[in-house]
Amino acid sequence: MSEVRNVIILGSGPAGLTAALYTSRADLKPLVIAGITWGGQLMLTTDVENYPGFPEGIQGPDLMANFRKQAERFGAEIINENVTKVDFKSTPFKVWVGEKEYLAKSIIVSTGAETNWLGLPSEQKLIGRGVSSCAPCDAFFFRGKKVIVVGGGDSAMEEAGVLSKFATEVTIVHRRDEFRASKIMADRAKENPKISFKLNSEVIDVLGEQKVEGVRLKDTKSGEESEISIDGMFVAIGHSPLTKIFKGELDLDQKGYVKRLPEKDSSTGMYTYKTMTSLNGIFVAGDVHDYHYQQAVTAAGYGCQAALEVERWLEENH
Ligand code: NAP
Repeated sequence: MSEVRNVIILGSGPAGLTAALYTSRADLKPLVIAGITWGGQLMLTTDVENYPGFPEGIQGPDLMANFRKQAERFGAEIINENVTKVDFKSTPFKVWVGEKEYLAKSIIVSTGAETNWLGLPSEQKLIGRGVSSCAPCDAFFFRGKKVIVVGGGDSAMEEAGVLSKFATEVTIVHRRDEFRASKIMADRAKENPKISFKLNSEVIDVLGEQKVEGVRLKDTKSGEESEISIDGMFVAIGHSPLTKIFKGELDLDQKGYVKRLPEKDSSTGMYTYKTMTSLNGIFVAGDVHDYHYQQAVTAAGYGCQAALEVERWLEENH
């Protein structure tokens, strides 16, 4: 019979590793199943200039290496493996890595989300060299430049607004002529003199060898193709949460994000565990439930919340 751990943390982005730091300092001896490619989305970025505490900025992979080192310093056990199966129907909760089974009294789900990309080889080649998915992270590099934002949702409108503070021209390229974005966000973009729209258009190629120099567009109604010169392309077509293995175990929303179903104290009406999922003892932190902010610093904050709640929950329930 395997040892029953106090807590297993699934995922190793800012949420998971912050949870690991706090739970290890609480002497809970957490096991982090980090993923074969550990570290989350920041491992794919270069300069991170908006993570507080690094006035000169820091490279994404260096920041995550620091997160990891700090959690390991207090005894977090971190394995670079992918979780292949879970069984949360009975306690102790069961988690498998291939054939190996791990048992735990509590779980923190922090598997994160991944950016949806257009899927063009030219786009993938130029990520970090003019292609980005995060205006708050990268807008600064486009001061005085021309950029496009792909998408028609709230994210696209918001990214365009952020970019308009730096770029000279921002064009929102959207595949339809109606927006998925809320009216208020779309109106704000329409009223911004630096933002223009290219509707019924999709990007079919990103041009440039070493850096983005332009895009080839296709009119979705007429099929006509055209090219425009730009310095940057921001892709804002949504994210996908990494929750496939939790289907049938945890309540997920329509888009697959983990639902938080915090427990309410009947006497005070206050929520006791804000990071609790649909199952007692399973907590959630970071982009896997938060589609709204999706920032490293907010994910780290959620990781801290979940860890503090796990500590209290274990005291009260075990
Ligand atoms: P979203 O609402 O799902 O919108 C995605 C957009 O990308 C849609 O316009 C969609 O086009 C387009 N798209 C999807 N796949 C595409 C593809 N392969 N090629 C071209 N275009 C594609 O995603 P989101 O904008 O990231 O927003 C996610 C959630 O966060 C929403 O609930 C949103 O309200 C929220 N959010 C809120 C704020 C805020 O309130 N400040 C800011 C950001 C996000 P179609 O419309 O044609 O499907």
